[in-house]
Amino acid sequence: MKTEQFNLFEGTRRLQMTDSIELTAQSLNAYGPTHKHWAVAWSGGKDSTATLTLLVYLIESGKVQRPQTLTVLFADTRMELVPLMAAASDIIDDLRARGIDVRTVMAPLDKRFLVYILGRGVPPPNNNTLRWCTRQIKIDPMTAALRELVGGLGEKVLTITGVRQGESAMRDQRIVMSCGKDGAECGQGWYQQTLPTALTDTLAPLLHWRVCHVWEWLRSWAPRPEFGDWSTKLLAEAYGGDEAEEVNARTGCTGCPLASRDTALDNLVSRPQWAYLAPLQGLKPIYRWLREPANRLRQPGGERRGDGTLSKNQQRMGPLTLEARTEALGRVLVIQAEVNAAALALGRPQVDILNAEEEARIRELIAAGTWPQRWTGDEPTGDTLLPIHYADGSVLPLLDFSQPIGYE
Ligand code: SF4
Repeated sequence: MKTEQFNLFEGTRRLQMTDSIELTAQSLNAYGPTHKHWAVAWSGGKDSTATLTLLVYLIESGKVQRPQTLTVLFADTRMELVPLMAAASDIIDDLRARGIDVRTVMAPLDKRFLVYILGRGVPPPNNNTLRWCTRQIKIDPMTAALRELVGGLGEKVLTITGVRQGESAMRDQRIVMSCGKDGAECGQGWYQQTLPTALTDTLAPLLHWRVCHVWEWLRSWAPRPEFGDWSTKLLAEAYGGDEAEEVNARTGCTGCPLASRDTALDNLVSRPQWAYLAPLQGLKPIYRWLREPANRLRQPGGERRGDGTLSKNQQRMGPLTLEARTEALGRVLVIQAEVNAAALALGRPQVDILNAEEEARIRELIAAGTWPQRWTGDEPTGDTLLPIHYADGSVLPLLDFSQPIGYE
């Protein structure tokens, strides 16, 4: 029994699991009734799965007032880790069995991660400034799904996200919406920050949760019948099983080119039951290889903006050559086939990052010589020696090594 008054901003005492759950219920009861319709932006990762399963438990147990409608929007990037997809599909079945409306949210064919890279030729993202993927495969599809939902309901919804900042952020009353901080899920902070306010308000009822509570909920609480009997053990196991409390694993796409290490995948394949996924560790090297100058086109120099002035970034590196795209497509397909042959033999879940429709579309786009805007395909490759063009219009010619260099 609790004997002391709990103070969130107390320096020494840390939130207990029950306190965390209680604060979540309070936050939902405080802000939830302002909207009749709720949506959950669910990525299938640990934070948003904990949020979703806890939310349903709190509603079913009467601890949180039931909204008029609850819609779960599952963001399928097509690049999720295999155990995440397996767990998500079990949870989707459970949600539907409870009568909850679950909708799968996916980018249109040409905008999907591998189709955009291999079909259109846009290089894999490699830093936060050239990071097109989160918006394209997560935020934009979620916004489109919300637009459709709100259109049908005729009023603004409350979107519940899995953004989590831990206790320090609560103490400091500082909410930084960075992506990937403290092992957070890619996209969650962005959902909170970028979904249009005309369609939705957002609420992050697990904002104060420590990562160890997320694991504890997924591994020990949510699977118990009294908390909803959820298939979340698989998810916790995917990130390190018994050691999960220690693993502040960032969740995101398989082989995310922006993560310095593929921590979640590396942890997975070190476990015997997931070792067959090891070929997927080959995806990151493919993305790295694709970014090499020989596999890309480059502006030859003298590129101008629409207003006729010289572009600042002369001789910028650009899209992937058709040859590199074809080669990478073949390599990805080999990786997928290797994993699935092993999965079939072992009776384990298969990977599906490139289906027949996506492969056919990539081949079609390559055959049609598709290039991103402002590229024609006639530009030289990035490893071609060229005179150097500067943004002020000056040009440094190539040295002519055919002439002997002499001293007078
Ligand atoms: S996990 Fe990585 S590849 Fe996937 S959307 Fe986020 S940043 Fe992009």
